[in-house]
Amino acid sequence: MRIAASTLINRGASALHDRLLPHVPEAMAGRVRMEQVQSILRMTPVMMSANIVIALLVGLAGLNSPQTAALTLWAALVISYGLLGLRGWVVSQRRKSAKQTVSARGVRRITWQAGVLGCLWGALPILTMPQQQGFSGAMPMLVASVLAGMIGCGGFAMLTLPAAAIAYSSPMVAGALYVLATSNDPILYALGGLLIFCHMVVSVSCLSHAKIFADRLVAAEELEQQRQVVSLLLSDFEEGASDWLWEVDASGAMTYVSDRMAAAAGVDKSQLLGRPMSELCGAAEGPMGPIAALAPLFFDQKAFRDVTVSIAVGPDSEDRQTHWWSLSAKPVHDLSGVFTGFRGVGADITQAREDQARISRLAHYDVLTALPNRLSFLQALSKAWTEHGKPTNKGGSGAGCAVLCLDLDHFKGVNDSLGHPIGDDLLIQASARLRDTVGELGLVSRLGGDEFAVVIAPSPGHQALGDLARAIVQVLSDPYDVRGHNVLIGASVGIAVAPFDADDPDGLLKNADLALYRAKGDGRGAYRFFETAMDVWAQERRALELDLRDALANHELKLFFQPLIGSVEHETTGFEALLRWQHPRRGLVPPADFIECAEQWGLIGAIGEWVLHEACRTAATWPSHLNVAVNLSPNQFASGDLVAQVRSALKASGLAPQRLELEITEGLLLHDSAKTLEQLAALKALGVKIAMDDFGTGYSSLAYLWRFPFDKIKIDRSFVAEMQDNTAIADILRTIALLGQTLNLEVTAEGVETPAQAKLLADMQCDQFQGFLYGRPMPVGDIPSFLLSNLARQMRRESEDDGAAEEAVTG
Ligand code: C2E
Ligand code: CA
Ligand code: CA
Repeated sequence: MRIAASTLINRGASALHDRLLPHVPEAMAGRVRMEQVQSILRMTPVMMSANIVIALLVGLAGLNSPQTAALTLWAALVISYGLLGLRGWVVSQRRKSAKQTVSARGVRRITWQAGVLGCLWGALPILTMPQQQGFSGAMPMLVASVLAGMIGCGGFAMLTLPAAAIAYSSPMVAGALYVLATSNDPILYALGGLLIFCHMVVSVSCLSHAKIFADRLVAAEELEQQRQVVSLLLSDFEEGASDWLWEVDASGAMTYVSDRMAAAAGVDKSQLLGRPMSELCGAAEGPMGPIAALAPLFFDQKAFRDVTVSIAVGPDSEDRQTHWWSLSAKPVHDLSGVFTGFRGVGADITQAREDQARISRLAHYDVLTALPNRLSFLQALSKAWTEHGKPTNKGGSGAGCAVLCLDLDHFKGVNDSLGHPIGDDLLIQASARLRDTVGELGLVSRLGGDEFAVVIAPSPGHQALGDLARAIVQVLSDPYDVRGHNVLIGASVGIAVAPFDADDPDGLLKNADLALYRAKGDGRGAYRFFETAMDVWAQERRALELDLRDALANHELKLFFQPLIGSVEHETTGFEALLRWQHPRRGLVPPADFIECAEQWGLIGAIGEWVLHEACRTAATWPSHLNVAVNLSPNQFASGDLVAQVRSALKASGLAPQRLELEITEGLLLHDSAKTLEQLAALKALGVKIAMDDFGTGYSSLAYLWRFPFDKIKIDRSFVAEMQDNTAIADILRTIALLGQTLNLEVTAEGVETPAQAKLLADMQCDQFQGFLYGRPMPVGDIPSFLLSNLARQMRRESEDDGAAEEAVTG
């Protein structure tokens, strides 16, 4: 029986409970049970006091009744139970513990306690049965109303736990029904019906109320969980992302400012709250372009995205910095659809904007010189072309536009010999000069390396363009002081003018480049306007380049030798090796037509090495008093392995070093490079002689003579050609010869073509002659016969001299 009742209560409690809290996670169910129990606990003092008082009253009413002892015992039991309940309540209040949940067992225990109390009350009608126990009159009425009251009050107090309510009231109804079944009093039937009805109402309302209560608790519980998740996500977002949240009301005043936003604005949160957001932001830029300010966007009440606004960041009005924010927001409406403001995100995009600006700067400007780069040049050119250069402007009022291409002469030499840092500095200085010279006339850009271009639009006319080009060549040719080095370079300029010289911008650039190519081919330091014939010329040059690349491998290069003659005895002292190109189609090509190209195209290194070996090899077959002179190009010094090449040529041929003369030009010494002087010293240390070729044509020839201990100077043939007509030149020559004696240098006169020249030069104390008067450059096979014939000529001249002397004596 007891077991049956306990399973009934337990199962019933569980079943009811499952109905109330279906599919609710245990943690949440525990908290819901806690609320249910709490609500019962709140009623406990009243409930227990009521139990005690009513039991006391019933006990008192039962005094002097047929069941005084039983009723007194019953009242004592109920009162004790009530006191126990009160004590339990006091204890539970005292340890208002951190416990937030109540287990299903806890609910079952309460259900049990309610059931026990219910049973105590259920025993009352049995104890006071009218016939069996000898009661009559008011007692049954008292009991019936007490039971009805207890069922109602208990049901009310235990609304939230229907299982407990039912466990409490059911025994009372059961007791009453038992009494009812054993009597035949119709009034008692009515009483029984009343109790059952009472019980049903209590049970049903209890159940429905408990369901609502539990649902509400679960909903609140779920809402709280949601709130926690959202706030967790939000704080995560605000911490992790660079974005922040903001909110404004319908008037645009800030109602929510996140910490991050306040930090981004550089002020305290409190200074922002309530302030109109548009006041904070300056001019705005939307994806479609600038917007006067943020206010119009707010006014429109429409969602917006990625609007960039400028913000003066910082509290102090003096040193405020301008930052850029990107804002996106949606309008917010209340339940009745009334616009209540905007809610959105923002991010500081200052860094991104700066990066973008930097990238676009990098894309358009040359990093080294800060000049616009090739891309900018092409853009400027195409703009100039559409505005001024189009062929439709031909003959019209359009002035046309022009492109100047220029590059620095000898820049590569400086870069190679002095190093890239100096080369870079030189480029920076040259760029500045170029920009200053061109000024407002056009846009100067660096196309790469030592190549520059200028777009000029509108064109100031042929004359002005020529003047500008000349000014550019001049200003770039002035000496540079680069980190203590005195550097000299030059510049060549090519000019093409639209619409005459080309049909499109590309053609204009190409033709300006051709003109530049021509200017360089014509000896550098010059400017040229484009001419149609240049195209043909350039194609020829291209063909020449291709041929020259094969010349060495095809054994088309030859050395000719031009004799060097002593000025007193007219004996042959040696030969200068002069390069010839025996081209299968072009015939014998003189060095003037290809040496410069070989230098430009980077072929001179290999060719020069071949010349050294060939000259030494040939000279080694000559009588030992004959020297050989070899011309060196400045580029051979730049490559760095010249000394090794000379050493190897001497070794391979077995030629005594003192029989080898190396001829260098002043161009080599233009940049006072330690590296060059070092190599010259190393060459001298090998025992070879160093000659200064074409003396007098360079910049400040005399200065160079002091800088390096040359063995010989060769006076350029232009002096020799002019000396008879120009006394000033004759004076210079005399001074040079004198200087040679002072410095203990051999002096050779080049280009001696007439006996008169020879006579004059001999009088000036020149040591050596070279020129057509004595012999043209000849193939190696002609040397023996030349030597013989010169010997014969020498002897004849001696006998003539003797005869003349005799004549003078005898005459
Ligand atoms: P350069 O070193 O001044 O050579 C002398 C040039 O003057 C030679 O011209 C020669 O033919 C010419 N010449 C000699 N005597 C007379 C004369 O009486 N009258 C006239 N009008 N000219 C005379 P070439 O052989 O055409 O050489 C021209 C230049 O080419 C040389 O001038 C030299 O700078 C360069 N060159 C020649 N061979 C080589 C070489 O193997 N390596 C290098 N780097 N340059 C070379
Ligand atoms: Ca020479
Ligand atoms: Ca010369």
